[in-house]
Amino acid sequence: MEKNFLFYAKKFAKLRVDKARGVAPHKPILLLTVLDLFEKGYIGRNEIYLSPELTANFLKFWHRFVASDHHSNIALPFFHLTGDKFWHLMSNPGFEAAIQARAKFRTLPLLRSAVKYAYLDNELFQLLQDERHRNELTNILIRAWFPQNVSEIEEAFKYDEFEAIQQSLFDSGGSIYSIEELKNEDQIFARNGAFRRNITRLYDQRCAFCKMRVVSQDGQNLVDGAHIQPFSEFRSDLFVNGLALCKNHHWAFDHGWFGISESYRIVIPENRFIEEPPKASLKIEDFHTEEILLPNDQRYLPSLEALEWHRQNWEIAI
Ligand SMILES: [Zn+2]
Repeated sequence: MEKNFLFYAKKFAKLRVDKARGVAPHKPILLLTVLDLFEKGYIGRNEIYLSPELTANFLKFWHRFVASDHHSNIALPFFHLTGDKFWHLMSNPGFEAAIQARAKFRTLPLLRSAVKYAYLDNELFQLLQDERHRNELTNILIRAWFPQNVSEIEEAFKYDEFEAIQQSLFDSGGSIYSIEELKNEDQIFARNGAFRRNITRLYDQRCAFCKMRVVSQDGQNLVDGAHIQPFSEFRSDLFVNGLALCKNHHWAFDHGWFGISESYRIVIPENRFIEEPPKASLKIEDFHTEEILLPNDQRYLPSLEALEWHRQNWEIAI
């Protein structure tokens, strides 16, 4: 059968969904989200990442359109859409066999560890380059799966939930989560992503330790939004618990290879390193007493209390 527009229109209207507890809305919600991300220019190549942007906008459609008591777990449709034969998974190294054997990865962190990205049939990806096709497929999805919400679709496409979360976190300086809130993995993943994005922006995409800034043409950068006090223990996404650090210095900070003093100077513990610096570079010890880069917004200077906790945790004496 020719894989043309009609072929996919039928597929979208007749997705293989679970009906054990009423029609499961996960797959049509994920496809609406993918169409939305195409529209917003997030998807340039045929690679759909399980990203905070995808997750935040998945929740946007979910909260608007789902009336049943199904649980909003994006990992389920991201995995099970493979059963509809136009959605495929690219596994991470070491997970090829598990993905091929259709081993179940039922949670977002597990699926993210196993899967690099999803990709569509090339024929479908090409069709989605055309705005008219995207609109028609959106209409098909909404009429087939959420007929009572037809009038709301335009409004839902208008805004970007990930941007909205970033903005609301920016206005409030981040937040601390309760154990109860952590149970919604999709929500926390989207909000953690917004935390990281905000922190790297506050530091102008530079590492607070070495000041390096490398940004690719498509906006990726080498700098992470790191937590001073670990999120798993303190559940704090307050910006004052954040630091922008490159991958190396994020790892080094998380393993106590350096601390930061009350005057925001780098503290390198003595006699801990054997190293040969690469050409034209500095040894880690050369950074001792150097001032770190501070965020461009004075409200979000790193918390002295959190930094002291970190030094004590790793027994770094000033
Ligand atoms: Zn660095």
